[in-house]
Amino acid sequence: MPFSKLGLSSPLVKATKVLGYRTPTEIQRQAIPVILSGKDLVATSQTGTGKTAAFVLPILEKLNKERTLRGKRVHALILTPTRELSVQVEANIALYSKNLKLKSMAVYGGVDIEPQKQRLIEGVDILVATPGRLLDLAHQRAIHFDELEVLVLDEADRMIDMGFSDDLYKILDRLPQHRQNLFFSATITDSVRSLSYDFTDSKVSEAA
Ligand code: AMP
Repeated sequence: MPFSKLGLSSPLVKATKVLGYRTPTEIQRQAIPVILSGKDLVATSQTGTGKTAAFVLPILEKLNKERTLRGKRVHALILTPTRELSVQVEANIALYSKNLKLKSMAVYGGVDIEPQKQRLIEGVDILVATPGRLLDLAHQRAIHFDELEVLVLDEADRMIDMGFSDDLYKILDRLPQHRQNLFFSATITDSVRSLSYDFTDSKVSEAA
């Protein structure tokens, strides 16, 4: 099955061709149509399965369609456990969105917060963040979530293992009620399942 059959339009199908992706991976086949339909998703997926493109491509598709609505607010928030993963996910977004006018950025701790604040003021559509730095930026009023449409938790199991659960709930408190939630984890333990219940709609779809 080609990428075009999953509901992605030509700029994104083209991006996959340029990168040499011949067919969608299993997680992409399952997740992309669900995400485009607007439903919440809980997916079990390891690194290396193409899971990043599975959520990034449909998010880009949706935001690109609504392009006229773009302002200076964050429309999609992707939470990751580590700085390395934030940087890597943002690099993927930059690759796939080369021909679109969407701005993305990664924020993480351990570096000066001021340049991150400055770029947020200039406007970012898709923000990739580690939980602690995101909360710092929110406390300093550098981020507003009132136009947030999509929340992604990437590697949710690792976020729990690294002790980010409290931060995740604090972030959740700041987000608008009406939003789409995409939950990715390599493993589904009891604590992951319970976090997924709190972070997703009851009519959630599952993919593995
Ligand atoms: P991930 O699981 O998101 O870390 O992706 C693993 C690698 O697979 C990355 O280097 C992607 O560029 C690549 N990739 C993602 N989707 C596809 C695809 N449909 N065909 C070939 N490679 C892909």
